[in-house]
Amino acid sequence: MSDIIQLLPDSVANQIAAGEVIQRPASALKELLENAVDAGATSIQVIIKDSGKSLLQVIDNGCGMSMTDARLSFERHATSKIRSADDLFAIRTMGFRGEALASIAAIAQVEMKTRKHDEETGTLIEIEGARFVRQETVSCAAGTSFSIKNLFFNVPARRNFLKSNSVEARHIIDEFERVALARPSIAMSLHQNGLEVFKLQAGNLRQRLVAVFGASYNERLVPVEESTSLLNITGFVGKPEFARKTRGEQFFFVNQRFVKDAYLHHAVSGAFEELLPRESYASYFLFLDIDPGRIDINIHPTKTEIKFDDDRSVYAIVRAAVKRSLGQFSVAPVLDFERESNFDLPYSMRNAPVQAPTIDIDTNYNPFRRDTSTQRPDGWQNLYEVVKPQPEQPLSPSSFLPEQTVLSAFPEDTATQDDQLLVQIHLRYILTQVKSGILLIDQHAAHERILYERYLDTLEKKPGAVQQKLFPLTLEFNAGDAAAIRELGDDFKMLGFELSEFSAQTFVVQGTPPELGEGQEKEIIESILEEYKYNKDEFRDHRHESFAKVLAKRTALKAGQRLSRQEMKHLVDELFFCRKPSSSPDGKPVLVSLSLEELAVKFK
Ligand code: ADP
Ligand code: MG
Repeated sequence: MSDIIQLLPDSVANQIAAGEVIQRPASALKELLENAVDAGATSIQVIIKDSGKSLLQVIDNGCGMSMTDARLSFERHATSKIRSADDLFAIRTMGFRGEALASIAAIAQVEMKTRKHDEETGTLIEIEGARFVRQETVSCAAGTSFSIKNLFFNVPARRNFLKSNSVEARHIIDEFERVALARPSIAMSLHQNGLEVFKLQAGNLRQRLVAVFGASYNERLVPVEESTSLLNITGFVGKPEFARKTRGEQFFFVNQRFVKDAYLHHAVSGAFEELLPRESYASYFLFLDIDPGRIDINIHPTKTEIKFDDDRSVYAIVRAAVKRSLGQFSVAPVLDFERESNFDLPYSMRNAPVQAPTIDIDTNYNPFRRDTSTQRPDGWQNLYEVVKPQPEQPLSPSSFLPEQTVLSAFPEDTATQDDQLLVQIHLRYILTQVKSGILLIDQHAAHERILYERYLDTLEKKPGAVQQKLFPLTLEFNAGDAAAIRELGDDFKMLGFELSEFSAQTFVVQGTPPELGEGQEKEIIESILEEYKYNKDEFRDHRHESFAKVLAKRTALKAGQRLSRQEMKHLVDELFFCRKPSSSPDGKPVLVSLSLEELAVKFK
């Protein structure tokens, strides 16, 4: 026998094909979700154990399958979605290659239950490593439920290639989010290891984005809408000031299919040009709708890459649409500023009557010692603390400021002089006179600097003061955030947060740092978690700085807030006790100085 070529048995062919389609648990989830979408489901539940390695279950209320179809669906190239090659140019369904189920069944233990809405009984099918195990008539809910157990149980090489649970879990969440964003009208939930990670109601895109990424997204989104003869674009881009240091929230959907496309990405980035700080990335959630005949989605087995027949026009339209939205949004910055100043006032300050500050002078008081037993009041009252130099650290004004910024900028004898010039300008800057000229101080940036250094000291030296809550607050988090809170537990504690675990995803806040206004707790904890989640490496390397930065930014008083003379005075005094008073933790200038000489030149 000299002929050596043989046809591979189907089971082997399927296993090889599976390698292309199913690389990890998340790829199986993607296929199952897409099938549920194609089946017209209005509700999809996902249940995951061990990041999908041991169990991956998808339950939909879609059209279901007849007994024959149920059996056929696991055959390779078995699809209900196309009949001829011509259909390839009019595809609106997610699947069409008919290989996902065959691939999954080749490498896992699969149990499927399915019933059509107009049939009384359903079908159960069990397949293990492409080997048919059993088929039964069962009573089950209308729709289809797939449970995939022990993925890659018969392909150890693949199984060993899987990453840690947390990495695979992240992939699962990514796939889930992509479908969730593409189909806001489908109610979707995700449970991982018994914990509910997402429970998303049916709604519109904005509601879905907020449900997935958090309430703070509501004010971050700028709508994009453009109709042309070639394509329609809808969706949102993130306001430039919320741009992230990491890529991540960048979503392109073409005919509701998530795609990765460097060329389109470039088009959007181009539109953001100059609006973004260096090394930060825009967020976008853009939906292109285009005649399926003008694209080819068949170029990659996982269908995440796409080819447009007229890609240059697509590029130009996307770029112009995003540019236009950003332009429209930035015509009203003044209004935005006004609104923000009201909204950002801590709750306690919005409702409480204005109280005159009181000053107790304690001659033994050492401002550098933070006594944990002293309860600090809410709000900004700690600005009123009398800050005096430590005797062993004589003050020398020049040592506080970089020489090139201001020379002898220290306010003239601030500790004693009561007629020091202090004027609040546009509820935003403080004007004061110094020996060599004048100083303009940004009130928000100054307070941010003061708080940043205070928090940093707290984190590095001793626990911060705790403001006990009269009424402990119960806060719920999604599973990912709850895990992050546990990881960051010690730092939260150092800063003065008293958080106790009530259940897997519920925490009780018993105390907070005194600077926090009432009602700000959740927002601030979330902003820390967000920073942690998206800038993980940076956060880990500079944990205390990152923590202090977020907290300072959120708790610092804002532009738009009226300050009394005393408040201004203490703000200025405290600023000059900072190690680096001239710049905010983000490196923005805190103050601008004009020397008498510079002024004289201007009046020449
Ligand atoms: P494709 O989606 O490319 O057609 P699949 O292997 O993913 O291929 O699925 C094969 C067929 O099984 C589908 O065409 C569809 O008819 C049927 N099917 C799969 N999943 C479901 C589901 N959740 N509900 C109803 N029918 C389904
Ligand atoms: Mg499919």
